[in-house]
Amino acid sequence: MNIQIITKILTDAGIEENEAKKEVKMLLEHFSNYTELDRLLGKILPENDWNRVLQKAELRAQTRLPIQYIIGESYFMGEYFKVSPSVLIPRDETELLVREAIKIIKNNNFKNVLDIGTGSGCIACTIAKQTEAVVLGVDISLDALRVALDNVTKLGINNRAVFRKSDLFEKIRVNETFDIIISNPPYIPIGTTVDLEVMKEPAIALFSDENGLKFYRKIIEKAPTYLNPEGYLMFELGYGESLEVKTLMEKSFCKITILKDLAGIDRVIYGQLN
Ligand code: GLN
Repeated sequence: MNIQIITKILTDAGIEENEAKKEVKMLLEHFSNYTELDRLLGKILPENDWNRVLQKAELRAQTRLPIQYIIGESYFMGEYFKVSPSVLIPRDETELLVREAIKIIKNNNFKNVLDIGTGSGCIACTIAKQTEAVVLGVDISLDALRVALDNVTKLGINNRAVFRKSDLFEKIRVNETFDIIISNPPYIPIGTTVDLEVMKEPAIALFSDENGLKFYRKIIEKAPTYLNPEGYLMFELGYGESLEVKTLMEKSFCKITILKDLAGIDRVIYGQLN
């Protein structure tokens, strides 16, 4: 058994070569103690370890489950987060949103953050870990919240990120207010064709009615009730949605700012309560 054979199992299943190589490395590091250094030193991996890696590669090839679900972890902003098919896999683009939120929180000494549609809790936990703020993460999915809670333990931030089952603001009390409301809502227009792997992620975390805008509209309508004066509302944006979301925000928010991701796509929008 060797790395080439395992890589071929993945490429034969239609996984692109560079991606397959990366995934084999991830499988080796996760399901054995074999590191890149061991490979360079020509260390031989015990047959048992190969078999475990082989099994996982076959599972990946047969099911096209994203590699992160097979490993059970995903890297985001310097930490490994637990993930399962109940949650969206954290995306690189989301780092832009979280970095900007952390800057705003630190500059303003903000203490209370609400993360709507928290999923794995990657946004809530990272903010809690890297600032002094306490973050409430809400999600409609109990299974997602279980994963988010495990991530609180994993990151050692007990009591700094807390979670509640709520359909958007449904279970937020009127006297509960926040300095920032942040969300990476489902924003892919229903009917859009997505990759095989993306189809394995929870549809409720991905797709939205109203051309992808439903959750922006709903959150923008209610956010003013739950924000402190001059509080911020921040979103990750879906492709081509910035102008429409900006228009929705302009009714109650000012100083609207849009940030582009590395691909030059409008990816983050935020504004301050009027
Ligand atoms: N907040 C989580 C993330 O950004 C989940 C978002 C979602 O499920 N739409 O990854």
